[in-house]
Amino acid sequence: MLTKEQKYEFYQALIDKNKDYEGVFFAGIKTTGVFCRPTCSARKPKLENCEFFKTAQEALLASFRPCKRCRPLSPPGQVSKLIQTLIEAIEENPSKRWKDSDFTKLSVDSSTARRQFKKRFGMTFVAYARARRMGLAFKQIRDGETVIDAQLNTGYESSSGFRDAFSKIMGAAPTQFNKHHLILKASWLDTPLGPMIAVSDEEALYLLEFIDRRGLEREMEKLRLKTKAAIIPGRTEPIASIEAELKAYFEGSLTTFKTPLHLLGSHFQKLVWKELMNIPYGQTRNYAEQARAIGRQTAYRAVANANGANQLAIIIPCHRIINSNGDLGGYGGGIIRKKWLIAHEKHYKPTSE
Ligand SMILES: [Zn+2]
Repeated sequence: MLTKEQKYEFYQALIDKNKDYEGVFFAGIKTTGVFCRPTCSARKPKLENCEFFKTAQEALLASFRPCKRCRPLSPPGQVSKLIQTLIEAIEENPSKRWKDSDFTKLSVDSSTARRQFKKRFGMTFVAYARARRMGLAFKQIRDGETVIDAQLNTGYESSSGFRDAFSKIMGAAPTQFNKHHLILKASWLDTPLGPMIAVSDEEALYLLEFIDRRGLEREMEKLRLKTKAAIIPGRTEPIASIEAELKAYFEGSLTTFKTPLHLLGSHFQKLVWKELMNIPYGQTRNYAEQARAIGRQTAYRAVANANGANQLAIIIPCHRIINSNGDLGGYGGGIIRKKWLIAHEKHYKPTSE
């Protein structure tokens, strides 16, 4: 999250069309729903209507679409025809899930598309399309129920992108719920390490993940299928509880989470997750030690897989598991976050231990 000072600094750069800030930030304009580069020639919005992002992917995940005037995804003056075609194709149907066969229809070679996108934006076309699609669905979670109501009342039906993206990712269009459905509610939580999504019913928390975590879309699908639930934007007691606890965790004043959890996994997975929660705050352990702790010395690969299947980031502290050689090892939320979390906990570790 940006500090107030950074926000003012970026806003000033946006007003000044300051070239020095090219690539440093992108500005999302709430009134129009587009995101721009600092030097965009469009009329500049008021500060309260701006949101700033350090990467284009963050802007996409927050549901902004690229501005047609300043083309924030293309380095100035060198837009390849292929990339332009693909971005336009996405904007025609932002909720579409892209397959290799779709590229053939556009007369585009999928490996060329992958290469060109990666080179220009540091992400593949599929990652771009996914971020855009997820952003559409997240918009509602982020804005809460009132927006859904507003959209249902005012032309939500015609804005089919929202509707499609939401129902594909969350399970059912908001109008199709009935009281026999298990309803899970999802909220957007801002943290110092970037936004997270929390999903819960009225009793317990089912999922807590960074929204740009790889595989999140699949995870949401699995959650939906396993619980046969519809997921709608909203807040619950467990979400309010985890929001307060996360705030304290990031301030360094909380070492143990108490929000009730609903663990969805095999017997073995649950065993591994519970053991993860036994690793004290501020300490790390390697896979072999973790396997030994649950009495399955040789099963450390299965242990690693179970760690990877954890859907409650930070609370079930899979970030405390590192490689035996001292390397950090993998992390679904990204290695930079893992490093941050380990350092944060070492710093705030209670001294009495
Ligand atoms: Zn622009």
